[in-house]
Amino acid sequence: MPLDPVALTAALIRCPSVTPIEGGALELLEKTLTEAGFDCTRVDRNGTPNLFARWGDKAAPRTLGFNGHTDVVPVGDEAAWTCDPFGGEIKDGKLWGRGATDMKSGVAAFVAAACDYTTRTQPKDTAIIITITGDEEGDATDGTTALLDYMAETGETMSDCIVGEPTCPNTMGEMMKIGRRGSITGYFTARGTQGHVAYPQQTENPVPVLASLMAELSAHSLDQGTEHFDPSNLEVTTFDVGNAATNVVPAQAQSTVNIRFNDAHTGASLSDWMRAKAKATTERTGIEIDVQFQISGESFLTPPGAFVDLVANAVATETGVTPILSTTGGTSDARFIKNHCPVVEFGLVGKTMHKVDEHVDVEHINALKNVYSRLMSDYFA
Ligand SMILES: [Zn+2]
Repeated sequence: MPLDPVALTAALIRCPSVTPIEGGALELLEKTLTEAGFDCTRVDRNGTPNLFARWGDKAAPRTLGFNGHTDVVPVGDEAAWTCDPFGGEIKDGKLWGRGATDMKSGVAAFVAAACDYTTRTQPKDTAIIITITGDEEGDATDGTTALLDYMAETGETMSDCIVGEPTCPNTMGEMMKIGRRGSITGYFTARGTQGHVAYPQQTENPVPVLASLMAELSAHSLDQGTEHFDPSNLEVTTFDVGNAATNVVPAQAQSTVNIRFNDAHTGASLSDWMRAKAKATTERTGIEIDVQFQISGESFLTPPGAFVDLVANAVATETGVTPILSTTGGTSDARFIKNHCPVVEFGLVGKTMHKVDEHVDVEHINALKNVYSRLMSDYFA
């Protein structure tokens, strides 16, 4: 009997797997995949639960990978929900609950498609690897990276991989992701000399200096966009002095910027640029400015080609909509997988992800399973 991806999604929603709690979600998937002939290994690291599953010959000429996560963001204001966030209830043709779109339905769809495939196919020249983490919504240090480390240690390789995150803004099938922008955060601290505002010659005020640096960074046009990417964008996200006194020049001011950048830049080139701007400001003003960086991910692109075409064709055939090849949106675990093999993302409509009353159209889950099923048969044809 074919596996019902809707029932599987509902069962997963009933596992309260708020990051980093396993909640029974990976156990359920391990059982389901094992019954369909997969070899499953739990690759937990530092308290983060992860599942690795393989089917078929390690020496197969091509191995198709699927990646996803079972952890979910917290419920938030539970009183605002009109349904049980962990109930997995079906009402008005929709399945409700935390993780309904992001992304228990995506995981259920590819697991159901893969189980159908393996129960009716001989593992000859075909192999499938499924990696599922319990930490994508958190800091992700021991999630998909732990699975990829495990694969490197055990000689496991994927030829291509698809991530089942929600990728469609409004209509099922309208968008897939062939890359992502990178993300870097810069933390600036300007240090001056505190003193009485009535005696400015005895003080050095870091506030206008840091404010002018932020204005300069913010006004700078990083690029005009590239072939597959929108222009890079810098936002000043906070500016903090915390000075309650109106007669004191503060000693210190802090600010933070975040840049979402395209393939015209790297985390290193942007940190060099921001560090140089800070240094020039210090040289001009005498106010010392310290800056620290955190690079959450580099930008990457899986250029249009055979694999991208295969996925786009499966989406168009099953949904009737030709997907846009996009690089927009936030980061995802594809940023780690891109170091291993070509990776693209396709999943459901993401409108309600992380929201109160998160839900998904039941028909979309079935359509998504059909897309993944078609992708598998086309990939190994
Ligand atoms: Zn997600």
